[in-house]
Amino acid sequence: MTTPDHYAVFGHPIAHSKSPRIHQMFARQLGDEIIYTAQDVPPDCFVVAVRSFQAGGGKGLNCTVPLKELAFRLADQLSSRAELSGAVNTLMWRETQLFGDNTDGVGLLRDLTTNLGLTLKQRRILILGAGGAVRGILGPILMQQPSQIVIANRTLSRAEELAQRFGHLGRLSTTNFINLAGSQFDLIINATAAGLKGETPPLPEGLVAAGGCCYDLMYGDQPTPFVRWGEAQGAKLSTDGLGMLVEQAAEAYLLWRGTRPETKEIITQLRHSK
Ligand code: NAP
Repeated sequence: MTTPDHYAVFGHPIAHSKSPRIHQMFARQLGDEIIYTAQDVPPDCFVVAVRSFQAGGGKGLNCTVPLKELAFRLADQLSSRAELSGAVNTLMWRETQLFGDNTDGVGLLRDLTTNLGLTLKQRRILILGAGGAVRGILGPILMQQPSQIVIANRTLSRAEELAQRFGHLGRLSTTNFINLAGSQFDLIINATAAGLKGETPPLPEGLVAAGGCCYDLMYGDQPTPFVRWGEAQGAKLSTDGLGMLVEQAAEAYLLWRGTRPETKEIITQLRHSK
């Protein structure tokens, strides 16, 4: 009898992670048998934890907050999208080489365009935040050729760093939250961690254009503070990042096992079983 392939998600903290459940749902759907565990790994234990997972026969890893930049530095080989973002959320071994990819951007795009039916081309997009998640999503969003992308962050210098890093792919401007007053956007993406404290960034009124949408990367059992903000501002659609979570996981599964699970049904099941 063969032992099932072993995968894991490393993060700190990790107890809240839905990844083990999502990957087991994928495996069931595809008739695969896998082991997928969640492991709390503080940053200073990351390298040892990866090596010991490999020594135990582990096949692939997901990395979440705050390990994505460490994973980027540890990888021997990188996909072009990981290279561009400077962050890795998926690792696997190719022979003896550790390969790093970033599936966050493609996961978000699939949720926005395929699942929610939104178009990004020629749209005005506001991105709130300038952390690790924004590094992963900026490249794929820019490639959709929106008419405008503004990055607004509490610490302006971090937004400016990103504008420099990604500026060769399209026009990006930066601002702090207050100076957004008077602007309007077709899509506002919240990639700040403010929701973890039950807050939204301090945003002026009137940012959502007529027919505009709001998308929060954060997700939870209840509507997030930003999802509620979007609803109160009259957004046509205001939704959380559960779909992105499932889509980025499906891309990791594809990378590891060569088959992409069907995601729509799984997103629906997760929404109904909160
Ligand atoms: P991060 O690297 O720690 O960055 C956090 C960002 O949030 C920074 O821009 C920070 O601003 C800002 N911020 C923190 N507290 C704030 C507050 N009270 N008010 C305004 N801004 C605040 O985190 P990350 O990895 O980018 O993750 C951001 C969010 O995306 C998290 O909620 C994470 O769970 C979510 N995420 C979801 C998915 C998914 O699949 N759905 C994937 C990746 C990430 P400063 O620069 O000023 O500190």
